[in-house]
Amino acid sequence: MIGAVTMTPYMPNIDLHCHSTISDGVLSPGELVSRAAENGVEVLALTDHDDCDGLVEARRTATLHGMKFLNGVEISVTWRGRTLHIVGLNIDPESENLRAGLEFIRQGRIERAGMIADGLSRAGISGSLEGAFALAGNKNLIGRTHFARYLVEKGYARDVQAVFRKFLVKGKPGHVAHQWAELSAAVGWIRTSGGMAVIAHPGRYELSAAALKALLLEFKEAGGEGIEVVTSSHTLDMAIRFCDFAKRFELFASLGSDFHSPDESRMDIGRLPPLPQGCRPIWEGFA
Ligand code: AMP
Ligand code: MN
Ligand code: MN
Ligand code: MN
Repeated sequence: MIGAVTMTPYMPNIDLHCHSTISDGVLSPGELVSRAAENGVEVLALTDHDDCDGLVEARRTATLHGMKFLNGVEISVTWRGRTLHIVGLNIDPESENLRAGLEFIRQGRIERAGMIADGLSRAGISGSLEGAFALAGNKNLIGRTHFARYLVEKGYARDVQAVFRKFLVKGKPGHVAHQWAELSAAVGWIRTSGGMAVIAHPGRYELSAAALKALLLEFKEAGGEGIEVVTSSHTLDMAIRFCDFAKRFELFASLGSDFHSPDESRMDIGRLPPLPQGCRPIWEGFA
């Protein structure tokens, strides 16, 4: 017992959400997996944003460490005008639908990056497009975090979080409204590639109870099977709340650190609190 909450008695060390230099993490896939091994991770999924290019290297390193490895991805989606993230676990990165879908999203990221740079330029910040690309480990995957790191480097803000607050969120000069994939399409790509779709960090979307219910119903209807319950952006209260939603909507409960960087992330890879008791752990769904 921890406080009034009963925790599962034993759980293997599982981390099903993290990022490498293939998207906006700072460790290469191999370095990331080695760090996970040092932290005692037994089951790992690499879930880069909209790109699967790190999976071969990550799996090779996981095999060397005797760690179970799942192919993953985190797909950017627009639902009712908001950006949501859908994690795919146990996907086949060679699946043609999935590859084409991710390629389309990455192209959209390049177009958005030009507009972000234009906005920043109007606010007096020059060179951000080149600066962001120079910091991207994978030139096919550009994101706001690369811009944020460039602006920190240039002294426009103290840290990445401060750059988001000052420059990149709605109402700020580098904000660009963007249309990502449709929810049903993203879930479909994951499903047809043989994977399970999971709603990433639901606590970050600030949805009303009614909107959350509508999302869960629509997600299930599209074939979605899981929801993140434990993740670095959730408090214990949020984990308990989403555990309850997982039960009520018959979704598997997933967990992942969403680790990006030793300097920027609040939670290290493999250093997650346990799932609250009562929801079905997603690893029971991996057969
Ligand atoms: P993008 O997909 O390019 O729009 O970037 C989204 C990524 O930016 C997320 O996956 C986080 O890594 C990062 N991010 C989003 N919001 C924040 C924030 N407020 N502070 C720090 N990083 C953030
Ligand atoms: Mn990210
Ligand atoms: Mn995310
Ligand atoms: Mn993530």
